Amino acid sequence: MSASDNNYDIAIIGGGCVGGTLACALAQEGVRVAVVEARATPQLWAADSVDLRVFAVTRASERIFRAIGCWDVIEQGGISPFRAMQVWDASSTGEIHFDSAELGEPTLGYIVEQRVIQAALNARMEALPTLDRLCPAELAGFDMDADGTRITLDDGRSLSARLLVGADGAQSRVRGMADIAIEARPYDQEAVVAVVTTEQSHQETAWQRFLPTGPLAFLPLRDGRSSIVWSTTPDQAALLCDLDKADFLRELSSAFANRLGAVIDVEERVRFPLQRLHATRYVSERLALIGDAAHVIHPLAGQGVNLGLLDAAALAEVILETLHSGRDPGRLNNLRRYERWRHGNNHAMQRAMDGFKTLFGESAVPVRSVRSLGLGLVNRLGPVKQLIARHAMGLEGDLPRMARG
Ligand SMILES: Cc1cc2nc3c(=O)[nH]c(=O)nc-3n(C[C@H](O)[C@H](O)[C@H](O)COP(=O)(O)OP(=O)(O)OC[C@H]3O[C@@H](n4cnc5c(N)ncnc54)[C@H](O)[C@@H]3O)c2cc1C
Repeated sequence: MSASDNNYDIAIIGGGCVGGTLACALAQEGVRVAVVEARATPQLWAADSVDLRVFAVTRASERIFRAIGCWDVIEQGGISPFRAMQVWDASSTGEIHFDSAELGEPTLGYIVEQRVIQAALNARMEALPTLDRLCPAELAGFDMDADGTRITLDDGRSLSARLLVGADGAQSRVRGMADIAIEARPYDQEAVVAVVTTEQSHQETAWQRFLPTGPLAFLPLRDGRSSIVWSTTPDQAALLCDLDKADFLRELSSAFANRLGAVIDVEERVRFPLQRLHATRYVSERLALIGDAAHVIHPLAGQGVNLGLLDAAALAEVILETLHSGRDPGRLNNLRRYERWRHGNNHAMQRAMDGFKTLFGESAVPVRSVRSLGLGLVNRLGPVKQLIARHAMGLEGDLPRMARG
């Protein structure tokens, strides 16, 4: 640890995509930051392999990565722009198509492997002189006093900071140790994730078909293959992972209505339980939560990490303004602005995702008809469609400065 006597302005637990972004945003302005990360991630991998976890990165997130000096490295690591999005309903004729050209934008977003983003963030963190990355190391505990917080790590080291940030994911230990309550609900769904090859190319399009059991997404990868996220019942998810390859390919081709021809190959299949979770508070004296530590949403619109990056950009803005005006970034009255800014936004996105999931899970004939009509109407109503697309791209709403470009 290089900061004098292990004293930092900000200590961040969790150096994933969200924690790493906050760390870079602060340290590039000279703030003394410590990042504690449990997992050492590889910086190199086989050129023809694809990470199972990929993100649909919005234009707002691209701007945030540019602002912290990571975008060029992410671009070199490999991004797959998608210029269109096709959403349709398996139980009705409803269909909607978004096109970046109609919106006057070069792309709707990018599909990027998590490891590509992580490697870019790790390299940037290593290069920033006021940032110490303690990895691998885990949070063991912390004590607050009037001036700051004393943090102990599992390897016996300790450090102090004026503000402790929990960016340690859905199972956040920081949140648990701070006794911050959560509203949590399982979706009774699991997501089956895999990399697949289809007969036809993906056409730089993100595809999503709403099945009665949940949405099935095909996300375009840069090598012409697609990454699938198939949300379905836990029983069907288990079955899909157990099927032999030929049967799985047949099931998947049929569930996707052979939209890109047959699915002809699949790599490892992994399933994740899906849940909705929201912390009742994002801040307390000397503590803030960001990313999945604060909220977890359904992956159907691929917004999870994008919301977390907006949290990181908003909290960085609040902390920098507080420090510039000579105030203490750990004091609750200074942190409340961050909570007011992000809690309502994230809640609205969670509600919207839950609404979609419920609407498309309903198989009653009147609901199917309304769904079909609604999708068709939105598809024809230019301004409404544009507004929905701009929200999905992260270009609307009360955006932090870094996300405005
Ligand atoms: C199937 C699926 C598909 C998804 N697809 C998308 C998508 O397309 N687009 C999108 O935006 N989002 C997507 N998401 C959501 C996305 O994965 C999360 O929102 C995102 O990873 C959250 O980032 P984070 O940095 O907050 O948390 P995490 O990625 O969970 O990172 C937390 C970090 O904290 C570290 N950590 C944990 N505990 C400790 C500790 N005690 N001490 C030290 N370090 C610790 C961990 O090692 C980890 O590096 C998807 C999720 C699922 C399940």
